[in-house]
Amino acid sequence: MIDLKKLEVWFLTGSQHLYGEETLKQVAADSQQIVRALDGSVLIPVRVIFKPVLKTPDEIFSTIQEVNVAKNCIGVITWCHTFSPSKMWINGLKILNKPVLHMHTQFNRDLPWADIDMDFMNLNQAAHGDREHGFIMSRMNMNRKVVVGHWSEEDVQEQIGIWTRAAAAWYDMRTLKVARFGDNMREVAVTEGDKVEAQIRFGMSVNGYGVGDLVKIVNDVTDKEIDILVKEYQELFQVAREGMPGAQFHENVRYQARLEIAMKSFLMSGGFGAFTTTFEDLHGLSQLPGLSSQRLMAAGYGFGAEGDWKHSAMVRAVKVMGTGLQGGCSFMEDYTYHLHPKGMKVLGAHMLEICPTIGQGRARLEVHPLGIGGKADPARLVFDVPEGPAINVSLIDLGSRFRLIVNSVDCVKAEADMPRLPVARAMWVPQPDLKTGAGAWILAGGAHHTAFSQAVDARCLEDFAEIAGIEFIHIGRNTTISDIKNELRWNDLYYRFGK
Ligand code: MN
Repeated sequence: MIDLKKLEVWFLTGSQHLYGEETLKQVAADSQQIVRALDGSVLIPVRVIFKPVLKTPDEIFSTIQEVNVAKNCIGVITWCHTFSPSKMWINGLKILNKPVLHMHTQFNRDLPWADIDMDFMNLNQAAHGDREHGFIMSRMNMNRKVVVGHWSEEDVQEQIGIWTRAAAAWYDMRTLKVARFGDNMREVAVTEGDKVEAQIRFGMSVNGYGVGDLVKIVNDVTDKEIDILVKEYQELFQVAREGMPGAQFHENVRYQARLEIAMKSFLMSGGFGAFTTTFEDLHGLSQLPGLSSQRLMAAGYGFGAEGDWKHSAMVRAVKVMGTGLQGGCSFMEDYTYHLHPKGMKVLGAHMLEICPTIGQGRARLEVHPLGIGGKADPARLVFDVPEGPAINVSLIDLGSRFRLIVNSVDCVKAEADMPRLPVARAMWVPQPDLKTGAGAWILAGGAHHTAFSQAVDARCLEDFAEIAGIEFIHIGRNTTISDIKNELRWNDLYYRFGK
């Protein structure tokens, strides 16, 4: 999907000529040692690249010019080993067009109590040098992440790693192409939005294609191609008896294979990273893409049902963030509730399209009627989601701005089997509890559609929102309804007047 090891963050060390050559040599050597540690850290999935120590306004400006055009550079980490007067940084920071993380660390972890002298004091100046550096970014109203602590610390490396994942998703979204097969589900509000503004803000381009364009490719898929893919299904999944060769619904399975091959070919030839479908717009297709959409999500494509391009893009973004981590990401919908006072929970699912990367065990491949849409019975994968922490992510368009809402949730086991439920399902308890979590979500205007993930947590989405410069609302352990109401009102003022 995306190879994070091909992406780089550049490590920029601030200093100045005041201290003389010896000190500057030491600064460079120390900085290189920090970069080696970060680059080698298993917690940081991208490359960290050392750049020569910055001592003058011209060096800073020209280095940031390079940052802006370097193809694989997704952002910069800045740090001031010594004092680095910040007026030197203004022109460079003004043109920086990539995410920035200000790492507030010190080369020496411990004070050398017995030996400390003024040389030590003058070399290890981040405690005040980074304050000067922080001031100018605040003065310039720059969005950034600040990480504090010794560079060898696991927490520090983890926070940097999380930020690089957000920066990688941002890098991906800058050029993301979203294909929409058919338009929005008729009369639905939250899945709509301003695609022009979305492209200005995020870079993603969202365009619609007639289902007829897809139908032509669907019809051209050969039996031989389908044979090969169906064999793969039989190896990967537990195919229900009715879907096996010769059985009543085997053709329905073959049809989803046909759709998978055709849609993949369409997406690949157009360079798309995400797509949407809608059950209301299937003219010329005999089934809603079910298994096929599930399979394409598992291959890394963003997906949104009912024309929901914003959540398709977010599914893609969260998949990029979670690359290489345990747990997957899927398009999701808060579908139905268990409201028993002892153990209220949400059953998350969709008509068909849940990504098997979030499942546990071997998925079952089944064929059932759809219930709505009046098309043939689609094949789909059915599975459960493991227990553990997860997030639901929703991106909404408020007309004047985008808001990203994240609810941290805890996935739980179903209390009983649900043998008649013909779709993949997840069960969770929203944090801090269902009543507060759902209440806060509804006040914030969060969609019924989300990107669901057990691979990344809310911190990564917060970093992403910071990079994108959009509003971020987190509903978690400490959320109360009164706090969220105030936060929403204050944010409203900020985004109307403050920006
Ligand atoms: Mn839906």
